[in-house]
Amino acid sequence: MAGGGWSCPHEVDGRCSKVNNLPCDPGMKGCELYGRYTFFDGSKNDRLLQKQARAKAQKAESDCGEKADTDD
Ligand code: SF4
Repeated sequence: MAGGGWSCPHEVDGRCSKVNNLPCDPGMKGCELYGRYTFFDGSKNDRLLQKQARAKAQKAESDCGEKADTDD
């Protein structure tokens, strides 16, 4: 992945020194970026979406709890 505004410190000649020297595929499992960023390839977003859904659910829960207490 040469070019663009970002280059991965693990990438060496297009291969990932972090993931068994496989061809660099940003967001693949084991990649530095896996689970941290949103990718166009939806299969790579599962973990991120789960995380966001959980955070949302927790927030909704605490919001409801607060409202339930103030009943006037
Ligand atoms: S796969 Fe990920 S960690 Fe590996 S070189 Fe590419 S961007 Fe870096």
